[in-house]
Amino acid sequence: MTKQDYHMSPEQFREQGKKLIDWIADYYEQVENYPVLSQVSPGDIRKNLPANAPGQGESFDAMMRDVDQFILPGITHWQSPNFFAYFQSNTSGPSILGELLSAGLGVQGMLWATSPACTELESHVMDWLVDMMGLPQQFKTTNQGGGVIQDTASNALMTALLCAREMKTNFETNKLGGCPKIVAYVSSQTHSSVEKGIKIVGIGQRNLRVIDVDEHLAMIPEKMEQQIKKDLDEGYIPFFACATIGTTSSNAVDPVRAIGEICRRYDIWLHVDAAMSGSAAVCPEYRNYFDGLELAKSYAFNPHKWLFTNFDCDCFYVKDKAVLIKTLSILPEYLKNEATEKGAVIDYRDWHVQLGRRFRALKLWFVIRYYGVEGLQYHISEHIRLAQEFAGWVDQSPDFELLNQPPFNLVCFRHKSDDAFNKKLMDTLNKSGKLFLTHTVLNGQFWLRMSIGQTQTKRHHVENAWRLIQETAEMK
Ligand SMILES: *Cc1c(COP(=O)(O)O)cnc(C)c1O
Repeated sequence: MTKQDYHMSPEQFREQGKKLIDWIADYYEQVENYPVLSQVSPGDIRKNLPANAPGQGESFDAMMRDVDQFILPGITHWQSPNFFAYFQSNTSGPSILGELLSAGLGVQGMLWATSPACTELESHVMDWLVDMMGLPQQFKTTNQGGGVIQDTASNALMTALLCAREMKTNFETNKLGGCPKIVAYVSSQTHSSVEKGIKIVGIGQRNLRVIDVDEHLAMIPEKMEQQIKKDLDEGYIPFFACATIGTTSSNAVDPVRAIGEICRRYDIWLHVDAAMSGSAAVCPEYRNYFDGLELAKSYAFNPHKWLFTNFDCDCFYVKDKAVLIKTLSILPEYLKNEATEKGAVIDYRDWHVQLGRRFRALKLWFVIRYYGVEGLQYHISEHIRLAQEFAGWVDQSPDFELLNQPPFNLVCFRHKSDDAFNKKLMDTLNKSGKLFLTHTVLNGQFWLRMSIGQTQTKRHHVENAWRLIQETAEMK
């Protein structure tokens, strides 16, 4: 048969697709046996690839051979049960299948009208999460607020900054450009995405106030209020504050309620960032850490970190969707349509920076339905339980010390000798390929971080890691 054109036919897709699913299933069966941290050097991957793109198309089998031979060695296995570095970025079968289905449907969901299910499923799942996690009802799409899936917590935060800027300047900055002397408040432990957002939305780094933290590395609200008063005296206009539930460095929890009360008094937009630890709210027993969230004007957490949903998937909520839409809405002629005109629908392109959007809600919907609330609660609380157990082992060890009792699933600890020893310990462990963990610096000291939350991580992986850490420390 002569080739009609260059496309992959549905028959070929069916055949190769089944093989690829098998490949992924095999990968999950094997992932524990790979060195967790990729052991390649810079340039190692590219030097094996042909200098030019192929003139003639190649077989799918040839591509997969190259994946095995040239790509896999350059993979750091985030899905390994022995991955304890940074923060988890876990995924799961239902999520992967949802992602595949989204690619298969290939819809563009910029407006309700461009694929109604893409919008309505998203609003619905976001409202489900409000109830599942005990979030304030004000965040529901059916109320004044609403939720949207963004790519990342960084972009959610930048969107919140834009809304706050426009609220404070009567939507004039959008019209006139420039921006008066507005200032924002974070702690020294706030994620760097706030500083990045401040640069992007034109506030300027020098208008970011970094507030001191207490011995638990949580922001000190009184210091924030002192700084606000000083700024007001000097003619600055406070407009934005970010509180974090579970900082990336050490899992610290800012006192959201106290910060929120101050924000209310001074008419400051409070954004609460729970990108890394927000999934804990699915378990009622951890909701005390979220106390005061109803004072937030916006909130974000990442199912793509700790809710078995593959990257990218950030859940961003606002208290008042009208502000968000007023800040970002533009309606060119070619996008005009009756549903939008009547105001009967949500057009998510007004809820973030980009116009186009894919059908991300599918994978989240699959995850929630497959696990059920009960399944998600079980696994999240199990991760936290394992982290507490690990913290207990560290605490009882004569050679190691614990930073503090972790609220969620990140344990910061160190060997009682010096920084250089701890760094060498970490490097040796990571080079072994048997596990992967990273570090942070707190109060000028080097601390190891053990983040426990991979989909397949079980107690014996954590036990094994602790044994390896102790053995490696003794060898020095
Ligand atoms: C990881 C993290 C972010 C950034 O997340 P992205 O989705 O990658 O932008 C922001 N804040 C906190 C607290 C985080 O842990």
